[in-house]
Amino acid sequence: GNVPLTRREEASRKAFEEAKQYIPGGVNSPVRAFKSVGLTPIYVDRGEGSRIYDIDGNSFIDYVCSWGPLIMGHAHPEVVKALQETAVKGTSFGAPTLLETEMAKLVVERVPSVDIVRMVNSGTEATMSAIRLARGFTGRSKILKFEGSYHGHADSLLIKAGSGVATLGLPDSPGVPEGVAVNTITVPYNDLEAVKVAFERYGNEIAGVIAEPIAGNMGVVPPLQGFLEGLRKVTTGYGSLLIFDEVMTGFRVNAGCAQGLFGITPDLTCFGKVIGGGLPVGAYGGRRDIMEQIAPSGPIYQAGTLSGNPLAMAAGLTTLKLLTPEVYTRLEQLGARLEAGLKRNAQEVGIPLTVNRVGSMVCPFFTEGPVTNYDTAKMSDLDRFRRYFGEMLGRGISVPPSQYEGMFVSAAHSEQDIDDTLEGHYHALKALL
Ligand code: PMP
Repeated sequence: GNVPLTRREEASRKAFEEAKQYIPGGVNSPVRAFKSVGLTPIYVDRGEGSRIYDIDGNSFIDYVCSWGPLIMGHAHPEVVKALQETAVKGTSFGAPTLLETEMAKLVVERVPSVDIVRMVNSGTEATMSAIRLARGFTGRSKILKFEGSYHGHADSLLIKAGSGVATLGLPDSPGVPEGVAVNTITVPYNDLEAVKVAFERYGNEIAGVIAEPIAGNMGVVPPLQGFLEGLRKVTTGYGSLLIFDEVMTGFRVNAGCAQGLFGITPDLTCFGKVIGGGLPVGAYGGRRDIMEQIAPSGPIYQAGTLSGNPLAMAAGLTTLKLLTPEVYTRLEQLGARLEAGLKRNAQEVGIPLTVNRVGSMVCPFFTEGPVTNYDTAKMSDLDRFRRYFGEMLGRGISVPPSQYEGMFVSAAHSEQDIDDTLEGHYHALKALL
């Protein structure tokens, strides 16, 4: 922890240079390029448990965990075994398999608001489809989302978006037609008054409100007391649907997802990440009368060549079954240990740090705080974050390369991993002075 190891990066640098000739920006998803932190991305060779190993032979304690899916850690033996056993029987059929019903049943059992669920291939597809469904069901065009929330890259959801869009400082994406953008209303997260004002003005045109029940794409921002209850009330009052985007929070914060943690019943829920156990998966589900408007039971179209893919179902099901109450207790303990240590370090070193956390979602913001929405998240010292990121990476700790993303602790992290991380963190903060 004390001295940053000199990270070897010759192989990664060469790999990145070559990739840039063939792939836009060298990467298949923007944040991977480490652009905002100005470093060479890590080219990963393999992962195991809480660690990743790059092609230069460096190893890192990993808190990106594929941006959330790997709640049981990298290459969990049971997930790998399930994938092997499934793969030898064939990888895709475009015809129903029993695994899909098993997955749907498990989701319906764990999440009371979900009567019925459709599998897709990414979080983006899940939210995009849920929005179409909300519009089709209500016959209305507008949707309301929160500033700094990210719901994937569908046109109507790229307005004032968080995550990589925020990291790169892009206001709104070119290529989203004006006619689409006008139907997206944005208000600050945790601001129920602003929601009410929007509804007073446009209420009868709003098909639905889409919300992360714990915001995770402006960094981690928990809902303030009464916020989610308020959303439920307002949407019900106006006949709009409440859509919870639990792509990040689903099965991470609780077996019953964030809605179970807070006791709120949305009309529709989007899933992704953990539900796929590290394979490309998303899902959306909810009230039967709404969901049955989807083809083939209803007229609203949505389909997918690889949807419900056997390998994805096998990895997801295995992961969900591993998520026992004991695992959630352990994740809470590890998260609390990390949070306490980050705060202690910041205090000892004398650097303003606000640590937001729900369970295993942990986010240190370089600001006095409190951080309750995108505007307060943006008060973070981004230059300090950038240097902090390099100091952590140099000490063998992989944290998300953006102030607007949370750390994910997995069940494969040990207390020793957390303590080693905290030691590195202490010295990283010292180096920032
Ligand atoms: N919704 C939320 C809350 C997310 O965090 C993400 C991805 N980070 C998405 C949707 C989009 O999911 P995907 O990247 O799988 O399309």
